[in-house]
Amino acid sequence: MDERTFPCLSRRTLAASALGAGEPTTRALTPPIHVATTYIRDADSGCGTGFVYGRSDNISIHQAEALIAELEHASEAMMFSSGMAAATAVCLSLAPTHIVAPDMMYWGLQQWLRDLPRYGHDVTFVDMSDLDAVRGAIIPGKTGLVWIETPSNPLWTMTDIRAVSTYAHLAGAIVCADSTASTPILTQPLDCGCDLVVHSATKYLNGHSDVVAGVVATARNDAAWARIKDVRRHHGAFLSPFDAFLLLRGLRTLDLRVVAQSETAALLAERLRVHPAVKAVLYPGLPDHPGHDIAARQMSGGFGGMLSIRLRSRTEAIAVAAGVRLWRRATSFGGVESLIEHRASIEGENSPCPDDLLRLSAGLEDPDDLYRDLLQALSVVSFSARG
Ligand SMILES: *Cc1c(COP(=O)(O)O)cnc(C)c1O
Repeated sequence: MDERTFPCLSRRTLAASALGAGEPTTRALTPPIHVATTYIRDADSGCGTGFVYGRSDNISIHQAEALIAELEHASEAMMFSSGMAAATAVCLSLAPTHIVAPDMMYWGLQQWLRDLPRYGHDVTFVDMSDLDAVRGAIIPGKTGLVWIETPSNPLWTMTDIRAVSTYAHLAGAIVCADSTASTPILTQPLDCGCDLVVHSATKYLNGHSDVVAGVVATARNDAAWARIKDVRRHHGAFLSPFDAFLLLRGLRTLDLRVVAQSETAALLAERLRVHPAVKAVLYPGLPDHPGHDIAARQMSGGFGGMLSIRLRSRTEAIAVAAGVRLWRRATSFGGVESLIEHRASIEGENSPCPDDLLRLSAGLEDPDDLYRDLLQALSVVSFSARG
């Protein structure tokens, strides 16, 4: 596709067109899956194509990377074999330093961060929605990385990316935002001033619950980025070409999916907040959510497809999750199917997640069907709630 013909294409168009990815020899409209693990060298042993070996060079992967970079307004993006591989590569690329991270965030990554002293890093966990606390936790000249996740699991807390980036940069630290729940459709963290953005592409970017993948995108092609590239090459956390093909296919409908999922989540949040069995609805789109003002500034086109509800007890939460018929009881999110999950059960004993909380991922089903299914599941506990 010729960008010169359409100099400012919308994200929906960029995604749907996959930046014109195809196959030049046959002019196949749909990009093939490139499976080669190695490439034929020139007679002088050079590699004129730039493609050398499959652990870092693959067109199927480059096509997904190019599209994500475009959507994130990034200088470059790099795919990894999972979101965890992407996030840990950022930390492992740093010389021993002090890291500031959220006290509530994706549990799998927080568990790893808690173990970071083994890798020579010190970590301070802080309430990222409290700017004074964040400023207090950043040590000028010592803090090397500030980690943001917004909206963050599983309370959907908002962090002001611009404000945190300003504090961090003044102290000489870089900032990485995990934007998995927001997607590049709703937020561009790099435009808000942070240096790196990470996604579990397993979630919305792929969107069909059939690929595990991760991505890091960078504002600048600098020395820090080169070190992250080295981590991927040396640790070998490369995405498989088949997964890259599926991911690119999923990305083409990202805009439509995220907009529809955000509308459904907003509608469910509005309706569930007045249900007698529901103690609280956590959704950044609700005006009384503590992060609503930041969300309204930082997100556009919707507030995401994720919400959580709190029941009166762990027992009631588990009973409601047990009662659904259309929603599927499973971990993960961002796929076509709506998922419900008792988060504390999966996170285990040391989890800071309230045990009366259910995490909901709105899928692409009819919102009224989803609501009716929740109503019938809630009816198990709503009688006692009223009494
Ligand atoms: C799922 C998730 C991850 C980890 O990604 P994987 O692809 O499962 O490795 C990281 N951050 C957030 C916010 C997630 O939801």
